[in-house]
Amino acid sequence: MRLEAVVLPDKRRVSVKPAAILRCPMASAIAAWIRTDVAPLAASLGSVISDLDNFDSFECRGRNRMVGGRLSEHGRANAIDIRALKLASGRSISLVDRTVSRSLRESVLHSACARFSTVLGPGSDGYHEDHIHLDLMERRNNYKICQWDVWEPLPQIAPLLPAERPDEAPPREVADKSDATKPNAAKSEAAKSDAARSDTSEPEAGDTSPPAKKRRQNRRF
Ligand SMILES: [Zn+2]
Repeated sequence: MRLEAVVLPDKRRVSVKPAAILRCPMASAIAAWIRTDVAPLAASLGSVISDLDNFDSFECRGRNRMVGGRLSEHGRANAIDIRALKLASGRSISLVDRTVSRSLRESVLHSACARFSTVLGPGSDGYHEDHIHLDLMERRNNYKICQWDVWEPLPQIAPLLPAERPDEAPPREVADKSDATKPNAAKSEAAKSDAARSDTSEPEAGDTSPPAKKRRQNRRF
């Protein structure tokens, strides 16, 4: 069947975009999941779910698009790939975005793993880093696969302190010299050494010997 929308208990419609071609049991499982688990989750955010971002549903192909691979559940219209949920507020919640609340993504993971026999997401096999795959594949003893690592959010604040100078780093004199090749750096170095004449033991960056050598060479040839 063609699943275009799921009607919520309060008669609101959640559009499946684009509409998904699914076998009836899979379409019913998606509808029940949206009505019972996902809609209340959106409500807990003070919003209403409006769309399900359908990345892929029915397609005649092998698993992970490998030619000759075992037929994917997509080929049996028994699977859907979801990237995001859209809320009536206009907000789109990507299920694989680390900046999205971790507890929210975990709630989606637990609800999906309770209903579908296969849930694959980031960290599963490298093919599901940008979407979540759900299917109702039948296996012996109702064996289920639930592989979706809900990654930790990235640190919000970058470390402010510079990295500690490693012991094997070249002496500061060398570093200063190479800095002095930039005109501004050279100027400020000069200003510094004017201000602090005690520091004259260090060779000046503006040493004239290399250009002099060059001139001599020019004369010779
Ligand atoms: Zn898939």
